[in-house]
Amino acid sequence: KPEPNFIQLADLPLRPELVGAEPYGAPQLDVPVCLNVNENPYPPSEAVRKGMARAVAKAAKSLNRYPDREATSLREDLARYIGFGVSSSQIWPANGSNEVMTHILQAFGGPGRTLLTFTPTYSMYPEYARNTHTNYVTRPRNASWGLTTEEILSAIEEVKPDVVLLTTPNNPTGTTIPVVVIDEVCAGTDAIVVVDEAYQEFTDAPEDSSIALLPKYGRLIVVRTLSKAFALAGGRLGYAVAAPAVVDALRTVRLPYHLSDVSQAVARVALAHAPEMLARVDELRDTRANLEDWLQLHGLDVISSQSNFVLFGRFADRHAVFQALLDRGVLIREVGPSGYLRVCAGTPRQTDAFRTALLDVLPTAP
Ligand code: PMP
Repeated sequence: KPEPNFIQLADLPLRPELVGAEPYGAPQLDVPVCLNVNENPYPPSEAVRKGMARAVAKAAKSLNRYPDREATSLREDLARYIGFGVSSSQIWPANGSNEVMTHILQAFGGPGRTLLTFTPTYSMYPEYARNTHTNYVTRPRNASWGLTTEEILSAIEEVKPDVVLLTTPNNPTGTTIPVVVIDEVCAGTDAIVVVDEAYQEFTDAPEDSSIALLPKYGRLIVVRTLSKAFALAGGRLGYAVAAPAVVDALRTVRLPYHLSDVSQAVARVALAHAPEMLARVDELRDTRANLEDWLQLHGLDVISSQSNFVLFGRFADRHAVFQALLDRGVLIREVGPSGYLRVCAGTPRQTDAFRTALLDVLPTAP
């Protein structure tokens, strides 16, 4: 009988750009305090869990059938949540905003086309580009980790991208790009402009969203997710808000029945509890603000954040600090500009555990 692993990855006729590539992702470690992937630390409440269980039981009755390909009810719920007068024909949901982004690049990127974004930024973007055969070109953010209209437009002028990806609040810096800048960029380019607003609900003014610009710009796409504010990272539900024609383009490239009945049902329950979810967001915003103050008080350099996480440093050897915290049961993230670490806002108990561990580590921190 042949060994199940008689063939190795290196023996397979992989696409050349995949040779040597590792499946990417943050470490998933079993530790008491996980503050490493910007999740919402609060599990769904009992009321939400019960609602989800009921909705899944109902969906199960017809799981022999394919799901609603157009996710009609979910898109209506999302449009209602978003406001700004958007209709369900302007909403495109998929399995996390990372699938939405892949759809966008399948439709508007591809061979011979270029995606431009600004670093440091979300580490999955190059993977979406590679997987869709799109050239990935980056330019640096400015000294305050922001971007001005001039900086973005001059990069566009130089790179001539087909798709420009602007992340606000940005991961991992937590810094924002004002809507007026997005407005001026859209006015100054024919490229598709994607605004990743994964953390928008955590900002001080969530209603200041580029969604307000959609009536003016047919090539603007705003991407959001239920993973963070709606504590649904495990449910996998992200969505784009754009012109109906853009949604039609995304519908063309999606896999048939890409969004399961179970995902649709669970997401609808989360949305039905929006006020409860957003109250938690308010609490997490305060936790992050207090954490920033505390880190500063302890002499650390903090990048002022508008999200549920914060970058702090600078350490000569950030890995040593990361490891010392992990040894104390606290997992954070080694990411972003050199010397910095990223931690996200947890429950009071988790955030306390982080502070206690860091105090223990700081006196000797390299
Ligand atoms: N965009 C940004 C900026 C992110 O930080 C993340 C998650 N870390 C995502 C998108 C992806 O979120 P999801 O696929 O869970 O919706």
